[in-house]
Amino acid sequence: MIYPTKERTYERLSIDDFEARVRDFTWRRRITSFHLHHTADRVATWRGLASVRSTWAGHKRRQMVDLAMHALIDPDGYVWIGRDWNMMPASARGHNGTQAAGPFMIECWGDFRNGCDEWAGPERESAERVCAAICAHAGLNPLDPLSVIAHKEIDKTACPGDIDMDEFELAVARRLNAEGVEVAEARALPAANFDHPPEITREGEAIKTELSTQRIVQSATLAGSALTGAAGIFKWVPQWAVGVMVVALVAVGALWALRSFGIIKRSV
Ligand SMILES: [Zn+2]
Repeated sequence: MIYPTKERTYERLSIDDFEARVRDFTWRRRITSFHLHHTADRVATWRGLASVRSTWAGHKRRQMVDLAMHALIDPDGYVWIGRDWNMMPASARGHNGTQAAGPFMIECWGDFRNGCDEWAGPERESAERVCAAICAHAGLNPLDPLSVIAHKEIDKTACPGDIDMDEFELAVARRLNAEGVEVAEARALPAANFDHPPEITREGEAIKTELSTQRIVQSATLAGSALTGAAGIFKWVPQWAVGVMVVALVAVGALWALRSFGIIKRSV
């Protein structure tokens, strides 16, 4: 549904149409993560187009070029198109990436702090599907801590309230699996081009710790087969070079393990 207004044309899509739009869109900006916000407006205040227009006016007053987010999900589960998807969002200072690459940002209409509004129903389902569509498009693993990020993980804010991000990420992973998109539990190191890796402050890391263990086991297996495969090369590589390589591999592995278990923090 298209809504031309004096300041801007708004567009509201069903979640099915949103998924098709993600597939058909001419992406020039590489998506490297997904950012989740809430609007902090109560669900009961939702007034359709009027609400989106007042959000636009609010963002304009804050000197933004357009709506801050790429998409807004309403309490009925419809997706309102925000700013151009090839533009960087206004998600959190220092975490918006660049014009070439960075996060896709959504806001969900509601105030999910302290049980104000319930995170449920069509809005929650659409949020999961929007995230799954973006992950599928961008090749992001929702279980990777740096792929799906709540605003409060990168900023001093309560946004998006009590939404359980572990639960959200698992739900997205299950949706991707159901659609036949392989969600590997083992994913290589966090994207090196992520310009400002957030501090991971979230609680309830049990599932991720378990996944980290699986990652380590799988990477050890991979390293083993790589070494076996490379055995031919070792015939003409000096003995000391092989030693240096093995030491380096062990050091990298140990660092990775420490980081995976959160024993040392990711650098900011
Ligand atoms: Zn936020």
